[in-house]
Amino acid sequence: MAERKLKGVPLSSGVGIGRILLLRSVPFETTGKEIDQDERVKELERFTAAHKEAKERLLALKKNAEGHLPQEEMGILEAHLLMIDDPMLIGGIKELIAKGKLARDAVVEKTKELKARLESLPDPYMRERAIDIEDVGLRLFRALLGIPELDLSATTEPIVLTAEELTPSETAGLKPDRVAAIVTARGGVTSHAAIIAKALGIPAVSGISTKELTDQTLAIVYGDVGTVILNPSEETIQRAKRQIQRLAAEKRELASIAKLTAETKDGTKLELWGNIASPEEVDDVRASGGTGIGLFRTEFLYMDRPQPPTEEEQLDAYAKALKAMGDRPVVIRTLDVGGDKEIPYLSIEKEGNPFLGYRAIRLCLENEELFLTQLRALLRSSVYGKLWIMFPMISSIWEVRQAKEMLEKAKIQLKNEGKGFDEDIKVGIMIETPAAAIISRELAAEVDFFSIGTNDLTQYTLAVDRTNQRVNRWFDSFHPAVLRLIAMTAEGAHAHNIDLGVCGEMAGEELAIPIFVGLGFNELSMAPARILWQKRTLRATTSKWAKEITAQALKLSSAQEVYAFLKTSIDEIIPTANRENSPT
Ligand code: PEP
Ligand code: MG
Repeated sequence: MAERKLKGVPLSSGVGIGRILLLRSVPFETTGKEIDQDERVKELERFTAAHKEAKERLLALKKNAEGHLPQEEMGILEAHLLMIDDPMLIGGIKELIAKGKLARDAVVEKTKELKARLESLPDPYMRERAIDIEDVGLRLFRALLGIPELDLSATTEPIVLTAEELTPSETAGLKPDRVAAIVTARGGVTSHAAIIAKALGIPAVSGISTKELTDQTLAIVYGDVGTVILNPSEETIQRAKRQIQRLAAEKRELASIAKLTAETKDGTKLELWGNIASPEEVDDVRASGGTGIGLFRTEFLYMDRPQPPTEEEQLDAYAKALKAMGDRPVVIRTLDVGGDKEIPYLSIEKEGNPFLGYRAIRLCLENEELFLTQLRALLRSSVYGKLWIMFPMISSIWEVRQAKEMLEKAKIQLKNEGKGFDEDIKVGIMIETPAAAIISRELAAEVDFFSIGTNDLTQYTLAVDRTNQRVNRWFDSFHPAVLRLIAMTAEGAHAHNIDLGVCGEMAGEELAIPIFVGLGFNELSMAPARILWQKRTLRATTSKWAKEITAQALKLSSAQEVYAFLKTSIDEIIPTANRENSPT
C-alpha cells in the first residue's frame, strides 16, 4: 500500500506512531419507538442498572486518573460525578420512560434538551457545562447499550486512537504509554478533549474524516502541523522514529533554555510571544517561556453558540488573559470572522469568494452594535493588565480611522457611565493584505504597532485559498513576493518608529528567523509549542549575520532558492544532525 498524507488541524503537539484503532460509536439519536405499560417498568429497571454502572465506571476513571491529570482536568471528572446524579437529568429521563419512551431514547432526548438549555444561557461557565452534560448523557447511553468502556489494557503496542469525536472524559482516561496519538474528525483547538490531550502530552489532530481510516493501518501523526501519514514507507517510519527520539532529547534541552533571554548572540532582543484562542491557553504560553500574547483570536468566543457573547462575558475572558500575563502585553484582535469561519447568527450571505468578501474589519465596521460591545469589553478589561488592541484585514487607511473612531465612541460611552479603562492602550493593525503592506508607511502614521499575518498575506499575495487542498502547492510564505512585502512593511514601520511583529504561522518557522531578525522585528508570536524552538535558533544567530542573509534572500527569484539558501545558512550555525523538518 502506498504512503498517503492527510492534512487536518493541529490540536496537540508531538509525533506519534502506531496502528489505528477506530472507535465506532452508535449514533446518539432517538429511535422514536414507543413502549407499552408492562415494558415501562422493565425499562425503568434497565435504566437504574445502567445508571449505577455508568457511575461506577466514572468513579473508576477518576481513581485511575488521580496523579497523572492536572487539577483542572480532575475537576471535569468531579463535575461529571455530580451531574450523573443530577435530578433534572435522571428524574427527567425516568419521567420520559414512564411516559412510554425507550430508556435509550429518554437519555438522548433529555440530554439534548438540557444541553440546548445550557447553551442558550448568558453565563459562559454554564454554557461550557453543555459539553459536560452531553458527556454524561453518552456515558448513560453506552452503559444502557452495553457498549464497553474503551479498554486499552490488552493492547501491547501503542495505538493511534481515532474517532468521530472524543468526549473530555474519554480523553482523560487515556494513558500516553498506550496511546501514541489521537485523530478525530471533529473537535476544535479549544475543545476540552484537545486541552486534555495537551495536558497528557498525547499528539492529536482533528479534521480527518474517519472514512479515510481503517483499523490496524500503520499511521504517523504530526501534532504540530496537523498531518497524518498512512501506510508510511520504511524511510518515513525511520525518520519519524528519529524525530520522536530527537523530540524527547530536545524537550530536555529546550527546558533548560526556557528561562534564558530571547536574544541573538550579539545582544539583539526579540520578544517571543504566543498565539491563543482562549484565556486558558495563556498557561501554555507561560510554560513555554513566552513573554507576551501576540494574538488572541477572539472569534472563538463567538463560535458554536446561538448568539454573540455579551459585554460581560467578553470582559471576563479578556480580563482572565490579561491578569494571567501580569504586566506583559496581551494583543487582542477584534472579531475576525467570515472567510472560513462561519457564524450562523450573523446571517452572512453565502459568498462566491468568502476570503475576498465580507469578513473581519469589514463586517465589524458595518455592525456597530456588535463591534462596540467588543470594544467596550476590551477597554474595560484594560484595567487588569497591559492590553494592546489589534484590527484585522486592513486594506485601506479609512478603515483604520473608522475603527479608531469607534474605539473613541466606546471610550466616551464608558466615561459617561463612570466605567474605568487604561488611557494608554496601544492600538495596532494586522498587515495581511498586499495593499496594507504597500501603503504601510502611511498606515504606520496612524497606529502604534503592526503585526504581520503571514497566513493571509501569503493567501492574498499569491492568490491561493489557504483552505483549498488542491492549490496547497502554491501556498508558500517564502515566495519572494511575500518576502518583499514583509520587507516593505518593516520599512514602513521603521519610518514611523512603531512596534513591528508577526503572528502568522511563519513566526514559528525556523528558516524565517534570519529574515525577521534581519528586518528588525520586535516580536514574533506563534503557537506556544514553537516558542522554545525559535528561542534556540534565535540564540544561535547574530543580527549582523541575519542582516546579510536577509539582503541576499530578498534578491532571490523563487521560493525554492530562498529555502535552499536559508537552509544552508542555518545549517552552518545549528548542526543539521539535530534537525529534521516535519511534513507540513
Ligand atoms: C494570519 O492571517 O496570518 C493570522 C495570524 O490570522 P488568521 O490565521 O487568524 O487569519
Ligand atoms: Mg488572518
